[in-house]
Amino acid sequence: MKSVRDLDVFNKRVLVRVDYNLPMDENQNIADDNRIKATLPLIEYLKDQKARIILISHMGRPKGMRVPELSLGPAALRLSQLTNQKIDFIDDCVGKNVEDRVDKLRNGEILLLENLRFHEQEKSNDSEFAKKLAILCDVYVNDAFAVSHRDQASVTGITAFAPVSAAGFLLEKELKSYYDSVDNGEKPLVAIIGGAKVSGKLEALQNMLKFVDKFIIGGAMANTFLKSQGTDTKGSLIEDDLVETAAKIVKQAKEKGVEFLLPVDLIVAEKFKKDTPVKEVDLNNIPDNWIALDIGPKTCDIYTKAIADAGTIVWNGPMGVFEMDKFINGTQRVADAVASSKAFSIIGGGDTGLAVKKCNVAQKVSYISTGGGAFLYLMEGKQLPAVKALQ
Ligand code: AMP
Repeated sequence: MKSVRDLDVFNKRVLVRVDYNLPMDENQNIADDNRIKATLPLIEYLKDQKARIILISHMGRPKGMRVPELSLGPAALRLSQLTNQKIDFIDDCVGKNVEDRVDKLRNGEILLLENLRFHEQEKSNDSEFAKKLAILCDVYVNDAFAVSHRDQASVTGITAFAPVSAAGFLLEKELKSYYDSVDNGEKPLVAIIGGAKVSGKLEALQNMLKFVDKFIIGGAMANTFLKSQGTDTKGSLIEDDLVETAAKIVKQAKEKGVEFLLPVDLIVAEKFKKDTPVKEVDLNNIPDNWIALDIGPKTCDIYTKAIADAGTIVWNGPMGVFEMDKFINGTQRVADAVASSKAFSIIGGGDTGLAVKKCNVAQKVSYISTGGGAFLYLMEGKQLPAVKALQ
């Protein structure tokens, strides 16, 4: 895979695929601009090199239609504040008008194109559409780690037509952070896995079993594992079809000498509601029909100790329903333990990134990935389609 660093970009039209799929609040203001900030090192570098910079991104799921709420206009505005520079913005991403505008770009200027997914051909990886994007550039750079697990025109298709394709700084940094952690990180390597479902993380668990020293399991996925070990989880969220698989994973971990920590107590609730009655219970005391929504305090103590001696930590998935205050304690305690550990800690984006910010420890973890799905893809041991295309 070429790096943009190895290319001469002076005076070149450099088309950069970024991920400005930003969370917006109810007033259509940007709720979190981290994804823009994460691309600034590359943008500043290209400016210094006097490249002509064209940025492309998707936003949300407009399904091939023009949806005004999903315009990248606000991203252009925020980028101009962050760079102290005027950002040109045009209301499409392909076609004659766009080509004319690109032709007028001068060295060091930045043009952001409108949401790629206003065209259905972006998601279907249509090669004519990929060609139309490619003719806008001399050099294509992928700096959008968070969509690198997608086979889409601006991510993979375009590399067949762009004169030169290379990886950007963020893509490189994301891959390096992950692979350095799992391949060359200090031991013991501790994987903290939580979140909603075993099914979503099954492949990741199975792959990581090959090299992890210790698993710490929380969230609703812990319920399925607990059930596989004989706990009556009552009304808790369970994936019945995966109970047997969960038992197999626990058995394999034992055979390999991998520690596999499951909750020993739980915070249970009568209903999935923020003002529901709540109890702290041991595994055999869950009231009928009640549901487990967080790990309990004894479990937090065990998990905190298990994290303290880690050499490297990979964390994906909250320990409970952290969105509700009554069920954030498990995630908070684990986040505090990760923050005070000396280990290199890498956190998969999406919900876990949000949880870590809510727990006020974001500054104390070594790296928070900008990708959720793409990060999980790496945990599954797969090569990202974007990387394959760049190679
Ligand atoms: P994931 O995207 O798989 O990491 O799942 C994150 C989601 O899992 C969050 O929205 C949490 O609220 C949810 N979650 C965590 N623990 C539980 C639980 N015990 N029961 C139901 N949902 C949970």
